[in-house]
Amino acid sequence: MRKVIVTGGAGFIGSHLVDRLLENGDRVICIDNFDPYYNRSIKENNINSHRMNNKYRLVEEDIRNLDTFRDKITEDIDVIVHLAAKAGVRPSVKDPVGFQEVNVMGTQNILEFAKERDVKQFIFASSSSVYGTNENVPWSEDDHVLKPISPYASTKVNGELMGHVYSELYDMQFLALRFFTVYGPRQRPDLAIHKFLRLMSNGEQITLYGDGSSRRDYTYIDDIIDGVMAAIDYTDSMYEIINLGNNRTVQLLELVEAIEEASGIEADNKTHAPEVPGDVEQTWADVSKARELLGYNPNYNLYKGLKKFVQWYQNTSIN
Ligand code: NAD
Repeated sequence: MRKVIVTGGAGFIGSHLVDRLLENGDRVICIDNFDPYYNRSIKENNINSHRMNNKYRLVEEDIRNLDTFRDKITEDIDVIVHLAAKAGVRPSVKDPVGFQEVNVMGTQNILEFAKERDVKQFIFASSSSVYGTNENVPWSEDDHVLKPISPYASTKVNGELMGHVYSELYDMQFLALRFFTVYGPRQRPDLAIHKFLRLMSNGEQITLYGDGSSRRDYTYIDDIIDGVMAAIDYTDSMYEIINLGNNRTVQLLELVEAIEEASGIEADNKTHAPEVPGDVEQTWADVSKARELLGYNPNYNLYKGLKKFVQWYQNTSIN
């Protein structure tokens, strides 16, 4: 039985990962500070079932405070999956220092903890945003031209680089997984699909930034969790960067139509606003490396994933 730390385990992706690890019989320690970026009740709801499992422990701590969380975790740890972060491009433009403190210093703290405890495997949630304005699509990990254009993206580049240092110096396997816009049940309420569905359901106006031609590679949560679980089992090399996307890029206007179709609700009230600084024009993952190393094979096309998301949204009272 593995002992796994999941930082950010009360959040969207983290709570799904904890579900899967517990199902698998692993022991999980979740470190999360319930960052107030969105409502605590949503995160409490995410971890309700975890709290009832005796293989689960919650350490409510801030990753900026190495001295306090180190004292609360004394057991041997096999794997750390580091997902805790301030997330989002737009808020990072407003608060670059806060993003640096959590995503860079916080990540350094978790790496230090891993070094001190001789943890052999570290998995880091990186992001498609690191590719920035690189026009060479679909984006491949072999393309070393990273052109981040937001403070958030630069913190993720930083995490990948710090991981390389620790992996070289301390015999620690480090895998950076570059997630491409993840969606599904429990999705962060600030992200487009969740926000649009909420506004459309309430008959409110949705705002499309730019002319609607921007593109994103949307990845369903179960596919992402399959990729993370396969990464935990991966042992063939000490340092890898791997894209986890869907390998299909979707225009913003096409996304709205797909949400209309999946929900049966028309987006009658749309407005356009100027593009937001920091947002990239398109994201598009080449997932051939994930297929080769992890056996990754995304199962959800956008319509199938949106149907599941809408179903969840309509059955949950906490959004
Ligand atoms: P989320 O906000 O739902 O989860 C992040 C969790 O980290 C939250 O529960 C939050 O309380 C916790 N956290 C934040 N600051 C912390 C701190 N100082 N100490 C301890 N815990 C802290 O976000 P998510 O969408 O689940 O994202 C998870 C990870 O995946 C993040 O690293 C994010 O950057 C990365 N990522 C997400 C996406 C996406 O589309 N959702 C895409 C690319 C990368």
